[in-house]
Amino acid sequence: MSLICSELQVSGRSVGLVPTMGALHDGHLSLVSKSLAMNDVTVVSIFVNPLQFDKEEDLNNYPSDMQSDLSKLEAAGVDFVFKPLAADFYKAKPVVSISFGEMEQVLEGEFRPGHFGGVGVVVSKLFHIIPSNHAYFGLKDLQQFLLIKRMVEDLGFPVEVIGVETKREGSGLAMSSRNLRLSTEGKEIASMIHRGLKLAEEFVLKGKPFDEIEQEVGKFYEEVGALDIEYLAFVDGHTLTPVDSYDGLSELAVCFAGYVEGVRLIDNLYLRLK
Ligand code: AMP
Repeated sequence: MSLICSELQVSGRSVGLVPTMGALHDGHLSLVSKSLAMNDVTVVSIFVNPLQFDKEEDLNNYPSDMQSDLSKLEAAGVDFVFKPLAADFYKAKPVVSISFGEMEQVLEGEFRPGHFGGVGVVVSKLFHIIPSNHAYFGLKDLQQFLLIKRMVEDLGFPVEVIGVETKREGSGLAMSSRNLRLSTEGKEIASMIHRGLKLAEEFVLKGKPFDEIEQEVGKFYEEVGALDIEYLAFVDGHTLTPVDSYDGLSELAVCFAGYVEGVRLIDNLYLRLK
């Protein structure tokens, strides 16, 4: 794979990489369309990376439907699919680790210890195995996107990281392979996550203080019921540090994590303020 992509690049053809863990839905396919539109060749990787799971149970229960994934990618016009076995990808458990400092100690990193270290290792390795001009990541996983962008900058990977808008159901629910585990009613409840974030947006546009917005939106979620909030955080859209005032703030992210029917869901709202 490495040789094919290097040769493509040498011959002047651009390569786009879309890393995924499979169980593909239209959210993944929107990354694929972006890559197809911007590059001569698109490679999709499907690899459930054991390093980024802090709970063995989550890794074992991760949904997988390779046949359906391959059909979707073929229909979309993807050129190559890279789907290594874990035993081949990691001949031995890596001893090298990647740490993102304070940026991985907040939000998802706080609740999923070791998760981003595992993401950093797999993405670095994919960048080496599949030399690409562009790599596509969903803004639904905002922290992941920002950390990868930072890693590429810090370590000088010759690839441009591109963030793709979150694809949603008509109800506003962010598409996710985890939604498969929700009942119809659970999906309705989960769609309120986006509703709450849009409510936060209305308040932000009116300049309401963040602590008051947090209270109002928290109340909204409480009234929905059956929605357990893990966090609702107002952070700088660049550094992910918590914000308490609009002063000097150019990008704001409101990040949500919580549980519906025992399924952990995340979503966010990203706003440019100036
Ligand atoms: P995953 O297979 O869950 O690791 O996701 C692979 C890529 O697809 C990541 O960059 C995700 O951020 C992205 N992704 C997942 N869901 C969506 C969505 N609803 N809209 C856009 N991108 C998504």
